[in-house]
Amino acid sequence: MTNTVPEINSPTGATESSATPATITFADFGLDPKIQKAVSEQGYNTPTPIQAQSIPHVLAGSDLMGAAQTGTGKTAAFVLPIIQKILRHASSSASPARHPIRALVLTPTRELAVQVAENAASYSKHTDLRAAVVYGGVDMKEQVATLRGGVEILIATPGRLLDHIGSKVANLSQVEILVLDEADRMLDMGFLPDLQRIIDLIPAQRQTLLFSATFSPEIKKLAQSYLRTPVTVEVARQNAAADTVKQVVHMVSSADKQRAIVKVLEARTRQGLSRQCIIFTNSRLGCARLARSLERDGIKAGAIHGDKSQGERTLTLDAFKSGAIEALVATDVAARGLDIPSMPCVINHELPFNAEDFIHRIGRTGRAGSKGDAIALVDASEKRLLDDIEKLMKRKLDVQPLPEGSPSSAPSRSSSRSDAPAKMSDPFFYKPYEPSAVTKASSDTTNPEEKKVGITPARPAVGALLGGFKKK
Ligand code: AMP
Repeated sequence: MTNTVPEINSPTGATESSATPATITFADFGLDPKIQKAVSEQGYNTPTPIQAQSIPHVLAGSDLMGAAQTGTGKTAAFVLPIIQKILRHASSSASPARHPIRALVLTPTRELAVQVAENAASYSKHTDLRAAVVYGGVDMKEQVATLRGGVEILIATPGRLLDHIGSKVANLSQVEILVLDEADRMLDMGFLPDLQRIIDLIPAQRQTLLFSATFSPEIKKLAQSYLRTPVTVEVARQNAAADTVKQVVHMVSSADKQRAIVKVLEARTRQGLSRQCIIFTNSRLGCARLARSLERDGIKAGAIHGDKSQGERTLTLDAFKSGAIEALVATDVAARGLDIPSMPCVINHELPFNAEDFIHRIGRTGRAGSKGDAIALVDASEKRLLDDIEKLMKRKLDVQPLPEGSPSSAPSRSSSRSDAPAKMSDPFFYKPYEPSAVTKASSDTTNPEEKKVGITPARPAVGALLGGFKKK
């Protein structure tokens, strides 16, 4: 597999790269063999577009604004060149003084922080560099011990980092590279004052990288304040969903939504597809309630929302990654940044109030070229929200009846809008309309030809990532 490189824009919007598509491999970046080895061990063959475009600029020392959503491979796009750049400082000495913080990555959520740190630990595992993560909601002690021991790459949520700075455990005076990851979400969550305080403590002579799903006026202002003539790199079209995601809308009354989920999962089982799914709800209460109800219906479900402690979230996420839980019911904030490879299915139990959140939600599937289903359960009162989403995505969503035997299946809003038949025969995609389901379902046969799309439970347990990282 190879990757063709789309254009890279300069801050003025001028096209910098050649218009001729080029084939890029990881070897082209000239990364140290220790990093290359780690990349190969991850099983990455080809850089993703955001990696192909960003890595050369970061290596060259430019500030960079990257418009890329989670799932595009953006973490490696900044972590790999960071490791390369600070590798010259790597030291096998045990002395903490030889391991000052050289690179700081700020993230909005604990989950994203853990995932970035997990990547940093994997990519640097053949070097003497150390990576660690600090975030709130857990005891400080272990983090303090890790920071005191010395760490070159620190991933942090802003509030907890300020706590460690306040108690003089973290010192940013030798930071060379700063990354603001999911900067839009950090601003949404009110982190701007914290960011300002932190950035003021970092030497002005630094490289700054900012990643954001969208470039809102607020993000541009942030960039103007803290980045120097940044290169802008944009991969997928803003507000466009991956074309490896099949989107389906089922019109279902609110009272029938939970049973509709059961029907969808039953249909997926019949079709030989993974039942592993993330189900989005709009409220914490609704999230917890839905998970309990699904459990009563015999579905292995877990809830992840803001009222859960960090320990509970970690346990649930681990159970999901190992397959012990098949339905992860989540709110937007809790799910932000969750990295679950090859997520086969996302179900919107309700549509989000903010159309952009819909894009983030369905971005949990169809990552890195894998195929996935995004299913929205919509009742009549949500029509306006659906209109907003369709307007933002500049496309009509495909309305389909629920699978056979469903509790309620309304006819398509407009049959002319359905483009389903072309994709129906693809064994990777969920088939909402199953003409042969009546006979198939009773005989419990699954076509052996149909491939399963499942999550890979091979990643290290998130629980093992609290505090510092040990070299593997
Ligand atoms: P991210 O957008 O950084 O959250 O990455 C999304 C997923 O893509 C993660 O599971 C990564 O491990 C995976 N990934 C990152 N880079 C590559 C690559 N070059 N090839 C295949 N998978 C990748």
